[in-house]
Amino acid sequence: MRAQDLEPTFISHAPGYWADEATEHWDDHRWQLRNRVDSLADLEQRLNLTDVERAGVLLAGNKLAMSITPHFFNLIDRDDPECPIRRQVIPRIEEGWNAPEEMADPCGEDSHMPVPGLVHRYPDRVLFLVTDRCASYCRYCTRSRVVSGVGEQHLETQWEPAFKYLEQHTEIRDVLLSGGDPLLFSDDKLDKILTRLRSIPHLQFIRIGSRIPIFLPQRITPELCAMLKKHHPLFISIHTNHPRELTAEVRVALERLADAGIPLGNQSVILRGVNDSVEVQKALVQKLLMCRVKPYYLYQCDLIHGSSHLRTPVAEGVAIIEGLRGHTTGYAIPQFVIDGPSGGGKIPINPNYVVDSASGRITLRNFEGDIFEYPDPTPMPATDMESLHQRAFSLSS
Ligand SMILES: *Cc1c(COP(=O)(O)O)cnc(C)c1O
Repeated sequence: MRAQDLEPTFISHAPGYWADEATEHWDDHRWQLRNRVDSLADLEQRLNLTDVERAGVLLAGNKLAMSITPHFFNLIDRDDPECPIRRQVIPRIEEGWNAPEEMADPCGEDSHMPVPGLVHRYPDRVLFLVTDRCASYCRYCTRSRVVSGVGEQHLETQWEPAFKYLEQHTEIRDVLLSGGDPLLFSDDKLDKILTRLRSIPHLQFIRIGSRIPIFLPQRITPELCAMLKKHHPLFISIHTNHPRELTAEVRVALERLADAGIPLGNQSVILRGVNDSVEVQKALVQKLLMCRVKPYYLYQCDLIHGSSHLRTPVAEGVAIIEGLRGHTTGYAIPQFVIDGPSGGGKIPINPNYVVDSASGRITLRNFEGDIFEYPDPTPMPATDMESLHQRAFSLSS
């Protein structure tokens, strides 16, 4: 691990591997998208690959495409084959192996879609999958069965039937736009979608799930923010896993969104060799607060095909939460969840601070391991009630 990753500093890595060829285009998000690293040849031109990675890239071609924006690529440490940025976006050979517990659709989304593209699992809210493309592809993507367009299954969002469903189901008060990454759409297209959703009176609250502020901070333009602002209350959930991802450019992008009045939350996935330690997680959540982002969920990695090399035992997630709670502010502490296999929804997993509970009292431990007893309320005896009435009466006369 690099010691500087744990420092609360925001470093610019631009243009790094691209050197002079890119300086004048660096801030243009279209240039970033056009120049994504998406082939073995591109990759080998810039980085010495290990055999495990080279095989991984070849195998990924008809599973989940590789694609890495120059901005994100620059965070890779070329001298570190175990680099935490590398493990998130460069395929490895282990991806080609499906462990027996793994699935193509680990959260059972396809069986909860009343309309293609709309996942309705919870009583009052829906997940609306609006695109199958992202700026870069996370190797552990829970939706890799449809995302990136190279696999057998394809996302076929049915726009009008989806809007009709939302109109007819007045119990839905909350829509979460995801995919894929909705912020890849043009300002105009997003504006049209948000305007359509805002024409449905019972939709109180709209959210966008996006890793664009991390993969492609150049996309967070003042124009985009001005458009989003028209559709409040609008929240954005970003996805950051490692403190190195919070660069100077990312911080500017997040501040722009926050200044547009958009509350920001972060979703992280615990990944082996990336962020499976208390010290990395603590550095991450504290930097997120500096960027005005509230850590929201910390996910156990879904049982997606080809993810066993990235998944950790559940007990490690519990230990991470224990290592944060009490040691840093509650604002920095995400809720650790497992998205229940085959459609259980998000289930919170917490360290146990209740050591014992008997009738009338519980025994607790605090973050330092000290033990406390907390009693239930004692009912007031009738005789005490009576004497207080008498005292009050004597005061009034
Ligand atoms: C995560 C998720 C949501 C949103 O859940 P919140 O707890 O409100 O963040 C909604 N629908 C589906 C299917 C989800 O997976």
